[in-house]
Amino acid sequence: MGLIDEAKAGRITKEMETVARDEGVSPEYIRRGIQSGRIVIPVSPYRYTRPMGVGKGLCTKVNASIGTSSDIVDLEMEVRKARVAQQAGADSLMELSTGGDFREIRRRVVESTELSVGSVPLYQAFIEAIRKHGAGVDMTADDLFRVTEEQARLGTNFMAIHTGINRICVERLQKQGGRFGGLCSRGGAFMIAWMLHNDQENPLYSQFDYLLEILKEHEVTLSLGNGMRAGAVHDSTDRAQIQELIINAELADAAHAAGVQTMVEGPGHIPVDEIEANVKVMKRMTDEKPFYMLGPLVTDIAPGYDHIVAAVGASLSSAYGADFICYVTPAEHLALPSLEDVREGVVTARIAAHIGDMVKNGSRETDLKMGRARRDMAWSRQFELAMDSETARKIRSERAPSDAEACTMCGDFCAHKIIRENIDLRK
Ligand code: SF4
Repeated sequence: MGLIDEAKAGRITKEMETVARDEGVSPEYIRRGIQSGRIVIPVSPYRYTRPMGVGKGLCTKVNASIGTSSDIVDLEMEVRKARVAQQAGADSLMELSTGGDFREIRRRVVESTELSVGSVPLYQAFIEAIRKHGAGVDMTADDLFRVTEEQARLGTNFMAIHTGINRICVERLQKQGGRFGGLCSRGGAFMIAWMLHNDQENPLYSQFDYLLEILKEHEVTLSLGNGMRAGAVHDSTDRAQIQELIINAELADAAHAAGVQTMVEGPGHIPVDEIEANVKVMKRMTDEKPFYMLGPLVTDIAPGYDHIVAAVGASLSSAYGADFICYVTPAEHLALPSLEDVREGVVTARIAAHIGDMVKNGSRETDLKMGRARRDMAWSRQFELAMDSETARKIRSERAPSDAEACTMCGDFCAHKIIRENIDLRK
């Protein structure tokens, strides 16, 4: 029995209890959230997963995407990335390989972690069709459903599925007169190519009930993909993107009614002044389903620093109500991320999630403790509280001060020290 059915029957499962304890809310709050579709806990009947709650009233979660590309296939490296992401504090991983032996890579990554693992079955089905028939557009609907089931049996907890990108969306995209920056969703690009070549409806949409049967049977959480997301801030919040959101909102209702836990993904590349509207419209249309925000990147001109660009967008998204954010690494738009890129991407996204939670959930206790530790020049305490203690320690020790209480930024003129010597500001 899936978690929605358990919640509807009034039962509180072990996963609900664990999430309630981690989040500091009551188990009944979590049960009600799952029943209403406003909270999900991606589980798998095929392996133990550390329970992660995503949704209303919970802290913002961070996903790290890893996986091979067609150019770089290094299985051991992807397993190491999974470990580095977990050590850096990621809440989930998405295994998004597009090169090499898909089954072996996924099996090894899933074995290497207790985190929830997500996937995009369309990638594997499309690329296997290229390997088998010479063209991804020769993929069949059966290929897609077979891969979905196979990935579920490997212990995948949630799947980004590009169901909302149907013929109406493609028509809307064509009618609106193109885009400046195209489309940045690989799944969206694959599915549009398939629909246009075969002159057929997206099978994930036309056979949505069958897809739900598979997801329900294997207790996979559905993450409704954002295939229409814009690849440039100049195209944000356009008609094609909103069209897909409307369809995804309808599909999210149907999925929840069928007992499938569901999240909805959002864009992409959007400027700061459109973030609030995007989050609120999505939440309103979906009756507050969990919102998985991909980025958003708030400017297009900073390759090499896109983890910071995304952190600005993600912190605002989280503050306005997004529940789950996907990290972006410094390698975004440039190359497959290295181990250090993964680590830096996770830490940066965690900072963004926390900044959002300070507003969304009022989570300010650690900031209060850090403020006091800085005032009191309690360095060990500051390192304990730091989001990335190792980096903070390393920077201070590399440029050690002559006065151990201050640091080399102001040295003899340390404001905290001067104040402490003249007035008691402790509270
Ligand atoms: S020296 Fe300056 S930067 Fe360093 S702790 Fe004192 S006030 Fe802060």
